[in-house]
Amino acid sequence: MAMQLTPVELVEYRRDLKDRICSICRKFGYDDVCGVGAEGECPFDVHLARLVDAVLSTPRSNLVADYVPKIRELVCASCPNQNEQGVCKSRDRAYCGLDSFLVLVVQTIEDTYDRLHARPAASSQRETLRQNVA
Ligand code: SF4
Repeated sequence: MAMQLTPVELVEYRRDLKDRICSICRKFGYDDVCGVGAEGECPFDVHLARLVDAVLSTPRSNLVADYVPKIRELVCASCPNQNEQGVCKSRDRAYCGLDSFLVLVVQTIEDTYDRLHARPAASSQRETLRQNVA
């Protein structure tokens, strides 16, 4: 069952993701290519609730690969950029900020959750989340 997030919580997750990831996208010129659907909307705007649900419903891990199945299931499967065969050209070209910065996306969502629930920040509790998918 999908996690119930309040409108106030969603505002917090959205703001933290925009601050930490979209700023990098803009800095490196990715904001021109990071877009979902015909309108080219920001994937954090289109997928916010499903993305937060995917991350928080995955048991915490130091391996980013452990978060990928839920993100593919809850986010990418309902994304207009992915076709029926599960292929996403944006992902394949590293044009999706949500996917390209997945380590930072996961850390941001877990840190925001901990802040909202008054726990020490996730990133300070464990070693840095690793990109290793092997
Ligand atoms: S990786 Fe592709 S399918 Fe997944 S959110 Fe990004 S654009 Fe959408």
